[in-house]
Amino acid sequence: MKKNRAMQNTRERLSLADISPVWHYRLYEHSIPLPFSLTWLKWYFELKVASKCVVGEAYKYDSSYLVECSRCDNFGWKFMIYFTLRSRSKLEKNKNAFLVHWTNEHLGIC
Ligand SMILES: [Zn+2]
Repeated sequence: MKKNRAMQNTRERLSLADISPVWHYRLYEHSIPLPFSLTWLKWYFELKVASKCVVGEAYKYDSSYLVECSRCDNFGWKFMIYFTLRSRSKLEKNKNAFLVHWTNEHLGIC
């Protein structure tokens, strides 16, 4: 147990700020804007566009993942849904699951 924790600490942990810095700032270092405010609407419509959403930013504003990785597509939708619901806890869970998936499947490729 102790050894595992030590190993985890030495391994560099990926953060959303590393792969999607704009969305990291918007969703995790910012309070979620009030529904239907100008900022909320702007972000909401960007979250609906595959190349502009959280996952799209990680792909350098490319929507190719729609055909290449259904799990990434799924994470993208969840970011949009949880933003709409203003659920901090679900946004956090989705971010963590996305980072694990990204580390295991896409790190070093994009
Ligand atoms: Zn993926």
